[in-house]
Amino acid sequence: EMVNINELFNYLLDRFDMIIKSDDKPDKMYKINRKFTRKDLWVEIDTDRFTQVIDNLMNNAIKYSPDGGTITCSLYETRNNVVLSVKDQGLGIPRNSLSKIFDRFYRVDKARSRAQGGTGLGLAISKEVIQALGGKLWVESTEGKGSTFYIALPYEPMEEDLWDEN
Ligand code: ATP
Ligand code: MG
Repeated sequence: EMVNINELFNYLLDRFDMIIKSDDKPDKMYKINRKFTRKDLWVEIDTDRFTQVIDNLMNNAIKYSPDGGTITCSLYETRNNVVLSVKDQGLGIPRNSLSKIFDRFYRVDKARSRAQGGTGLGLAISKEVIQALGGKLWVESTEGKGSTFYIALPYEPMEEDLWDEN
């Protein structure tokens, strides 16, 4: 279905804002920062599956940021894509693990990850979902500093928008 991605991403982040605010552990302070284009962007996606992807990226950002911090979520358009990103200030990912985290069951540092809970399937499933939409999912990360996950979805500006430009 055609979905207003600004609306959906905002709605999903609102839910995380509520979880974060109800978590009263003082040593774990999270803040979600939104950098969204003001233009409404419509993309062809399955809302349920896309929700699963965002939930995993947000849960990871929280889970692998033991000291809290700011999670910056952005939404913008490029020539042919809508790009969403989720940036954390957490553990980061070692360089030699970067290509493996999208593999099924792969988890960085098994012992620590086990304590955190999870199966190691989240990113593998997310990648399948995004690729099935003709999009891309990738990561940039520095160990000890944090990670940024990007989703690029194919996007064709609405005809009315093209008319507006002329
Ligand atoms: P699941 O999502 O199935 O509950 P999981 O979170 O361990 O379990 P993935 O979401 O696939 O699995 O992530 C795979 C691994 O990549 C994680 O175990 C973690 O080691 C690493 N990882 C993922 N996201 C981040 C992040 N934001 N910061 C640091 N490491 C990450
Ligand atoms: Mg996960």
